[in-house]
Amino acid sequence: MFKAFRIFVLLVILLVVGATALMQRWQAQSWRRPQVITLYPINMDGNPSTEAYLDQLGEGAFADIEPYFQAEARRYGLALNPPVRVVLGRRVRELPPPVPREAGPLSAISWSLKMRWWAWRKTPPSSPVPDVRLYLLYHPGDFNGPLPHSTGLEKGRMGLVHLFASRAQQGPNQVVIAHEALHTFGATDKYDLSTLMPLYPEGYAAPDQQPTLPQDQAELMAGRIPVRPNEARMPATLAQTVMGRKTAEEINWIKP
Ligand SMILES: [Zn+2]
Repeated sequence: MFKAFRIFVLLVILLVVGATALMQRWQAQSWRRPQVITLYPINMDGNPSTEAYLDQLGEGAFADIEPYFQAEARRYGLALNPPVRVVLGRRVRELPPPVPREAGPLSAISWSLKMRWWAWRKTPPSSPVPDVRLYLLYHPGDFNGPLPHSTGLEKGRMGLVHLFASRAQQGPNQVVIAHEALHTFGATDKYDLSTLMPLYPEGYAAPDQQPTLPQDQAELMAGRIPVRPNEARMPATLAQTVMGRKTAEEINWIKP
């Protein structure tokens, strides 16, 4: 009897979790009203130059994102205008739980739960109510070496985005933000995880172009502009990127 009750409780929990996931997916992909993407800046290592940059940070640093989504949506015939609104939220003073180093499914699940618990407690209130929450983790502008990998969670509709605290980097920063935002709408990466090279054809901005290389733009979810068979460069601004057909299908702007 007790066992049957336990199974019943577990089934109810599973049902609720499943229904919530479906509901979130529907909200993320219905495009019935503009989706509010709220950005929460965080000083990643307490650096004073990062602090000075964040003190003067305004919505102007993210001004390319809305018109970019608008232009791309129009290209795919989406009636909603604008598809997203970008809002600069208040700063968050505490760091999110660190992303696990080893990529096991259990550590990923445990981190995703910790992350949601952290977000629930630490996210400052903002208006309008966010649909997508992106935590912007700023590193000093003269940070040496590659930044840690950014993470966009489709489930939970949030992401951790590693950026440089520098005016000169505002173009590339917006590319990274738009990329992680698209993950929360269901888009997948379109580059080879080991070589970081864009995948052909879905990771190319103009896959039908002849000759195929060099390309002039990056597919946003591939993240880089392929110029030679083993060489790709980072786009400097969103203007050097497009959302490809596959990405537009994944976020439900067009039917496959
Ligand atoms: Zn990605």
